[in-house]
Amino acid sequence: MDLGYAGKVAVVTGGSSGIGLATVRLLLEEGASVAFCARNASRLNDVAAVLRRDFGDERVMTAAFSVLDAGAVAEFAAAVTARFGRCDLLVNNAGQGRVSTFAETSDADWRDEFELKLFSQIHPIRAFLPLLREARGAIVAVNSLLAYQPEPHMVCTSAARAGVQNLVKSLSVELAPQVRVNAILLGLVGSGQWSRRFAEREDRSVSREQWYADLAAKKGIPLGRLGDPADAAGAIAYLGSQAAGYVTGAQLEVSGGLSRHI
Ligand code: NDP
Repeated sequence: MDLGYAGKVAVVTGGSSGIGLATVRLLLEEGASVAFCARNASRLNDVAAVLRRDFGDERVMTAAFSVLDAGAVAEFAAAVTARFGRCDLLVNNAGQGRVSTFAETSDADWRDEFELKLFSQIHPIRAFLPLLREARGAIVAVNSLLAYQPEPHMVCTSAARAGVQNLVKSLSVELAPQVRVNAILLGLVGSGQWSRRFAEREDRSVSREQWYADLAAKKGIPLGRLGDPADAAGAIAYLGSQAAGYVTGAQLEVSGGLSRHI
């Protein structure tokens, strides 16, 4: 299937690791030029150097900033306009989960979490909307199954993710017909977040493979494994492509079958 990315321009937030990086790489393989950001400049530069070697300098653009800095996001949009003159796809991926029960979550934590989840969508969408409208482009929000299936140890992040899903639905109506807006709902993907949790494991003798396999069994994932970043990237690339040209306001679950609802 031709996803139609040749000559197109994509923007990916949080592109220096995990799902974001897999998405950047896949979009480059499919022929798009890609602009991506993350906060840590050194990791971003390392990743960009490899991608420039593999795909050419002219198709790779980076900037180091937080998506919570509205001014920096606006500057990034201006730089993308100056460099590429268009944006066909915005992937709002930057972020991380928060592990906490209600009892463990302070008011400041609640504010931080809602700020991260909602403004990591709002700032990039506002900044790139003129370009997306002009290109009749698409937005893909990287969200979690927690939006519909909250976990007791992730109360705060689950509530914030439900808010993001609600926003995606509203935007799919308000931005139509020019811009399509969809989301992926992740289960457990073995990327940066889970690598960090593996590194903090109590039993140091357990290997990564065993720790991931035990986790998949404990969580009851029907497909029997954690997802790979590439699994998520494939779903993102599909939703952002011409192949999904009649799909908006939808959510695509990428969880190995973890949802308990139909
Ligand atoms: P990683 O930690 O591997 O990657 C996160 C990326 O986002 C990094 O490039 C990071 O770089 C960047 N980032 C984080 N915060 C910001 C910020 N404020 N501004 C700009 N960039 C930022 O995580 P994953 O690939 O696992 O996660 C990607 C997305 O998927 C996240 O939003 C996460 O919450 C979501 N998700 C992941 C799940 C999983 O199981 N992996 C499950 C459900 C949702 P830097 O730190 O340098 O800024």
